[in-house]
Amino acid sequence: MWDRIGTKGETVLKYQSTRNSRIGVSASQAIAQGICGDGGLFVPEEFPQVTEEELKSMVSMDYRARASFILERYLSDFTAQEVAQCAAGAYDDAKFSGTSPAPVVTVSSGVSFLELWHGPTCAFKDMALQILPRLLTHSLKKINEGKEALILVATSGDTGKAALEGFRDVAGTRILVFYPQDGVSAMQERQMRSQEGSNVFVVAVQGNFDDAQTGVKKIFGDEEIRRKIAESGMMFSSANSINWGRLLPQIVYYFSAWCDLAASGAVKPGEKIDFCVPTGNFGDILAGYYAKKMGLPVRKLICASNANNVLTEFLTTGVYDRNRKFYATISPSMDILVSSNLERLLYDITGRDGDRVRGWMEQLARTGRYQVDAETLRKIRALFSAGFCDDAETKEEIRRVYEEEHYLCDPHTAVAARVCREFRAKDEEAVNTVVVSTASPYKFAPDVLGAVSPNADWGTDVFRAVKMLSELTKTEVPESIAALQKKPLRFSDVCSKDGMSGAVLRAAGRA
Ligand SMILES: *Cc1c(COP(=O)(O)O)cnc(C)c1O
Repeated sequence: MWDRIGTKGETVLKYQSTRNSRIGVSASQAIAQGICGDGGLFVPEEFPQVTEEELKSMVSMDYRARASFILERYLSDFTAQEVAQCAAGAYDDAKFSGTSPAPVVTVSSGVSFLELWHGPTCAFKDMALQILPRLLTHSLKKINEGKEALILVATSGDTGKAALEGFRDVAGTRILVFYPQDGVSAMQERQMRSQEGSNVFVVAVQGNFDDAQTGVKKIFGDEEIRRKIAESGMMFSSANSINWGRLLPQIVYYFSAWCDLAASGAVKPGEKIDFCVPTGNFGDILAGYYAKKMGLPVRKLICASNANNVLTEFLTTGVYDRNRKFYATISPSMDILVSSNLERLLYDITGRDGDRVRGWMEQLARTGRYQVDAETLRKIRALFSAGFCDDAETKEEIRRVYEEEHYLCDPHTAVAARVCREFRAKDEEAVNTVVVSTASPYKFAPDVLGAVSPNADWGTDVFRAVKMLSELTKTEVPESIAALQKKPLRFSDVCSKDGMSGAVLRAAGRA
């Protein structure tokens, strides 16, 4: 079908489309291209295995070395030195505060939090978006003749800032982020409008997130604009969560969490653990599934949702139905009705049946609903559990975890903490569970403060809420959030939905 032998005689791992297993492209091609031409997502043709012996050797490595160890196996057209450079630059001590980019904090016997928010924007998106620009620039060099990449992003909040921070001043790239004018939190808007860097552009769109996302997709498909930016020596690329280069770095922290528990003696060699993951687009939890496939001792993956519980229903009944009320919750990064990365799970679970997957996805696009067969559902249920909670329960959980476990968590993490607690209460042979903690509580300070101190009054001033939260809980405000209050706002451009292509041409220097 395709040449699997590299120039030096080694076997080269190729990437397929979830809608066509006969496609075979290199890792750099998959990362540079972002999405496959047939609408499918890129997945590796097989999952490299990590033996028990190798896992044991990872326990004594630091995060950067663990990252290189995992990434090398997938990036078959990168040299070991290139991978190590990418990992070292991304997970540098200057970028991530604390002892490790992904520390594990154990709160009560059997339950720990894997904190993924010590990066520059205080959300777990940094774990992938600090390394993606490095992977992407290497990939572009390998596949094309030195074109500059223009990265377009539509964001509902966290991704935009993390992508800006990841790509700022990265040679050979420019980044343009569109956010919905009235659809992001005050803190998120401030974070984006004050962004530093000589290659960054931020524009508010008059509309909601869907308008911004639709606009970006249209521009990607517009031949005229593509031609114009090509004349300026540029090509489009994408930093959204369907890019393999964003999923791959996330596999690392699942391994890292197990290794940290092994290092502390909490788990023995080969001992299985559960992960409970606050989920939106299914990217984070899918990386956990891939870690398990590689040989990490994982028993169950518990998928936690907020009131937008489309995934809870799917993982329990096999019916995916997006025709339902959309809730704007206090865990906004999980307010999603179409979880794109689920397609990758279905491809794998069906034994790589691209035709069946395409059928379901076409049904979803046409009717908003599909139902998987009984055998597929059985396989999914053997691996995944699912639960959800609403905003009131989320706030109650923030307060309970703070009072009983003396641990302060953000609303997304609290959703997972709650679902985890309910799961463990019913589970007869509970194993060690790692709750994936995806954002700093300070990123959502008003809601967190309101939960732990119902009578607190900060008016409408988010920075006052930040200060009060810190004084009350005696926890430290992340530096980047403290600094935000004094940062000048650099960007104030607003455009209509139809004005987005004009903004792209301006960023490309064409208008
Ligand atoms: C993006 C995000 C999530 C959801 O992650 P997915 O990969 O989309 O499932 C959860 N919590 C926070 C804070 C996020 O930013």
